[in-house]
Amino acid sequence: MSAHMPIAAHPMDGLLARLAEIVGERATRAPGVLADHGRSEAYHAATPPDVVVYPESTAEVQAIVRLCREMKLPVVAFGAGTSLEGNAAALHGGVCLDMGRMNAVLKVNAEDMDVTVQPGITRKQLNAQLRDTGLFFPIDPGADASIGGMTSTRASGTMAVRYGTMKDNVLALEVVLADGRVIRTAQRARKSAAGYDLTRLFVGAEGTLGVITQVTLKLHPQPEAISSAVCAFPDLKAAVDTAIAVIQSGVPVARVELLDAVMMRGMNLHAKLGLPEVPHLFFEFHGSKAYVAEQAETTEALATEFGGEGFQWATTPEERSRLWHARDNTLYAGLALRPGAKAMITDVCVPISRLAECLVETAADIAQTGLTAPVVGHVGDGNFHLLVLIDPASAEELGRAKAFCDRLARRAIALEGTCTGEHGVGVGKMDFLPLELGDAVDVMRLVKGALDPDGILNPGKIFRPRDRQQGDAP
Ligand SMILES: Cc1cc2nc3c(=O)[nH]c(=O)nc-3n(C[C@H](O)[C@H](O)[C@H](O)COP(=O)(O)OP(=O)(O)OC[C@H]3O[C@@H](n4cnc5c(N)ncnc54)[C@H](O)[C@@H]3O)c2cc1C
Repeated sequence: MSAHMPIAAHPMDGLLARLAEIVGERATRAPGVLADHGRSEAYHAATPPDVVVYPESTAEVQAIVRLCREMKLPVVAFGAGTSLEGNAAALHGGVCLDMGRMNAVLKVNAEDMDVTVQPGITRKQLNAQLRDTGLFFPIDPGADASIGGMTSTRASGTMAVRYGTMKDNVLALEVVLADGRVIRTAQRARKSAAGYDLTRLFVGAEGTLGVITQVTLKLHPQPEAISSAVCAFPDLKAAVDTAIAVIQSGVPVARVELLDAVMMRGMNLHAKLGLPEVPHLFFEFHGSKAYVAEQAETTEALATEFGGEGFQWATTPEERSRLWHARDNTLYAGLALRPGAKAMITDVCVPISRLAECLVETAADIAQTGLTAPVVGHVGDGNFHLLVLIDPASAEELGRAKAFCDRLARRAIALEGTCTGEHGVGVGKMDFLPLELGDAVDVMRLVKGALDPDGILNPGKIFRPRDRQQGDAP
């Protein structure tokens, strides 16, 4: 059983028997299942829950949450488990709600270009089901994450530069609150001025304020034509300046991804791309055939102005898929640079005008630390990731990598940016929130206290609890 033991007061058999009344055999303590729900792609230590439950309806989620409130047990919602900051870790044990069986498409409203789904559906499953509608859901964090997890981490990824993030694409939510009430945060209207924006309160809340049981999403027309291109640059600044110029010139680029020279070496090792090992931009354009060609020509001209060379087109689906498959696998490309290493993955985001400065200072910092840390970035949004490759057995390396990530987060905040553009706070970024948001963190605590007074929902995430102080809720 886990360290903090709220569960100790309740014999496990009693809990399982109570859960069985709700979900039958879909509650388990099988060690393999607990371990699977305790580890992640991140470097954070594994923290398995005490029980994993697979609900199949909102009513079941409601009954489980009510039971956990009665027994004062932590409840951690779990989507696909691809989050990178320990967001779904069961730090205090308790009940893990695996939402994977709640994966239905409930209603497609093609005329309104929206869809309502259960939260366990993954983005690839959703797009497979939308294929014949002429519509698609564009948010692409690389991993095949669940819609509930993406909503809860306010995910974005490669296409955010054109289509926005989860914040822009969630229209409404159904949420089970800590006291078991079920609320709907909005109807389906494209805009609404009806009271507080509770939809956006739950988008990015990392399961700390409620369990999402339905999500209504905006959809977009499938583009008539898509083309992709890669271009090499003499240095990081030239690549970033090109990305800024492309955006400022009004080209509605669908993706613009930066890969530094170290990452290109990993891509060549892992995906046999055979590209020069210098900084690159990968582009994708969506639109009509003529418009896509026009966007690409403008981009090529701008890239050439900044010293870009070897602009290469990928117009067939096979070429495009090879390129973007390689991009989506940068985690494994990075790991190919140091077999046996673990990646400490971190993300920051700054205003795009400060991006070159942030990247250049970070590159100098990496060189000084002696770490291997390939860079990949959604540069159109001023967002980039580093994969700091570490020997998991070396405490010294772990310390050096953490100190580097700490400096990076502080640098981004000093440049008026954020310690996380898209991976969320989880446990990994908690220390930076007060630095970035000051007293706003206390307001978050007030909201948490009001909605989850017993602190059962994904405890230990986003901010640390502290003693009550003047100004807190009674
Ligand atoms: C190789 C790789 C590349 C990645 N690249 C990107 C990227 O480019 N952009 C990006 O944004 N992310 C990226 N990620 C991170 C990850 O895919 C996202 O954080 C994703 O949104 C997590 O979704 P999930 O379904 O895996 O959620 P999980 O990891 O299962 O959970 C994430 C959080 O959501 C909560 N949660 C899950 N379901 C619910 C629910 N129904 N109700 C309430 N809370 C819930 C959990 O409690 C947890 O706090 C990447 C990950 C990997 C492994």
